[in-house]
Order: sequence, then C-alpha cells, then structure tokens
Amino acid sequence: MKRIAVLTSGGDSPGMNAAIRAVVRKGIHEGLEVYGVYQGYAGLMEGKMKKLELGSVGDIIHRGGTILYSARSEEFKKDESQYKAIKQLKELRIEGLVVIGGDGSYRGAAKLSEKGFPCVGLPGTIDNDIPGTDYTIGYDTALNTVINCIDKIRDTATSHDRTFIIEVMGRHAGDIALFSGLAVGAESIIIPEKKYEIQDIVAKLKKGIERGKKHSIIVLAEGVCSAGELAAELLNNYQLETRISVLGHIQRGGTPTCFDRVLASRLGARAIELLLEGKSGRAIGMQKQEIVDHDIIEILKKRDPIQEGVYTLSKELSI
Ligand code: ATP
Repeated sequence: MKRIAVLTSGGDSPGMNAAIRAVVRKGIHEGLEVYGVYQGYAGLMEGKMKKLELGSVGDIIHRGGTILYSARSEEFKKDESQYKAIKQLKELRIEGLVVIGGDGSYRGAAKLSEKGFPCVGLPGTIDNDIPGTDYTIGYDTALNTVINCIDKIRDTATSHDRTFIIEVMGRHAGDIALFSGLAVGAESIIIPEKKYEIQDIVAKLKKGIERGKKHSIIVLAEGVCSAGELAAELLNNYQLETRISVLGHIQRGGTPTCFDRVLASRLGARAIELLLEGKSGRAIGMQKQEIVDHDIIEILKKRDPIQEGVYTLSKELSI
C-alpha cells in the first residue's frame, strides 16, 4: 500500500482534527502518501481530494471542527454512488480509506469495504454512542463544555431561586446527560434509555421546596422531549415554574480536551497500522485503556447499554 485517504463525516466533533493529524503524520512516518477528502462522502463522490503534507496538519491538534469539513449525503447511500466514490479513489491510485465519524459514517465505510475497498472507521462523535469503544472522540470535550455551561447556569439559578431545565444533545444515547448531570450534581437526569415518571420529578422538586431549597437543575437529553415541552408540562399540570436552557451546537465546538487529543492520536495511528496489515472493515476504539478493533458490521448491530451503576449513583446522590 502506497497511498491512502482520510475523511470526516456526519456531525463534527472536537478532536477530529487531532485524528486527521495522526492519520497523516503516522501515514507519512510509515512511507505512505496521504490524501484528504473534503466534505465527507459528498466530496468523495466528486473527487474533492488533495494530497496532505506534514505541514498541512500543523497547528490543528488544538482546534475544534475539522479542516476537511464534514457533510451528510443521502445520495451516497445508493450503491451506484458508492461505486462512483471507489472509482474516484482508484483514479488517484488510493488503496485505503480512513473514515472519521459516527454510526452513519460507519455504515458508509462498511458499504465501501463490502464492495472491496479497504476502509477503517474511527469513532468521531460527541454522543459516545458507538459500541466497541468506551469513548468516542469529542465526547470528553462535549462533557466539559456542558458542565462549564451548567455551572454558570447554577450560579444564576441559586441567586434567583429558580429551577432550570437544561437540554443537552443525545437523541438515542443519554451519556452526555447522565455523566454531565452527575458531574454538576443535577437534581434530576432524564435520558432516553430510562423511562421517567413526571411524578418523580415533581415530587423531588416539591421535596426540595419544602426543605427551603428553591433552585434545582434538571438535565434532559434531547431525545426524550424538548425542554420547552417538559417546562410546559410542569407548569400546566403541576404549577411548577421553570426556566429552560437549550445548549445546542455549542456542545459540538471548542478546543478538544487532553483526553480527546490523546484518544484521537492513538486511534488515528492505529488506523494506519491496520490498513498496512491489510485489514478492512474494522472499527477502531479504546476499551479498558487498550486500543482495539472490531468488525464494523458487527459493531453496527450492537448498542452499548447505559452504565446502570452510574445512573443509580446519580439518583442516590441527588436526594
Ligand atoms: P453523528 O453521530 O454526528 O450524527 P453520523 O456519522 O452518524 O454522525 P449520519 O448523518 O448518520 O452521521 O451519517 C453520515 C453520512 O454517512 C450520511 O450522510 C451518509 O452519506 C453516510 N451514510 C449513513 N448511513 C449510510 C448507509 N446506510 N449506507 C451508506 N452510507 C451511509
């Protein structure tokens, strides 16, 4: 193998740049030429690729976002589009592809691998919703962004004796809500993996009020309902007034933490090793501090459960 390419796809996450840097630098270290594909699979189909040098990835390890840009492409889900992408890669004599993205991006990488083009996937998403890895690239940074925001909101919640509902990202995975909620001492944490009873939230708020505590923080994962909907329910049915704060895209940006930079660097370097070993269709991750890889199709069939012990603890500590 002489030439490989790297792309970022789906929602961006802090640490994607550190992963690109690792792929490029490790690739060059191993004697490869490394091409960057711009705008994910959409750019791949159009042949938007450029050779990256050592200097192309200088001064990016600390930057959020992705220098290769990211995109979503419905078109790429078609077989003919995937063949078109492979044709573009082959025209440049590229023999392997590193895909950095979430589970949708993994599906794309699996399709290219099935069609005979060697691909490996790196988990780049803030949601921490990819099985086969304890952490995804960007999750730790997103958690720290969330707790910084909630700490600030708690200051004003305390000053004004208010209850805040903070809506955080997580359509199917409650990791961001659960772990940030535990870290900020949230009174209630609502996640998609756990059925919640509005009466429990109400009882907890009322109990707090009875003992003179008038401010509370409720952390809500967006996949359950919107903060506005929950606030309306609490007001209309239980006469409990709340304020809402939707953190939104702020969670996806910013300078990656040390943890995410190191994770991205280790996973990116492993991607090169796997391609050089002739492997394809592998999803790279870190489990119990070890860098591991799994069959990408098998990974896509799984879903890691929420950590029950952490969920129970969050309840025990928020009485
Ligand atoms: P995030 O978790 O941040 O949303 P993601 O990688 O899951 O990231 P998606 O929009 O689901 O984001 O997927 C990114 C791209 O991967 C899609 O726009 C599409 O081009 C490609 N993709 C998704 N699913 C498939 C599939 N079944 N077959 C081929 N390509 C796919």
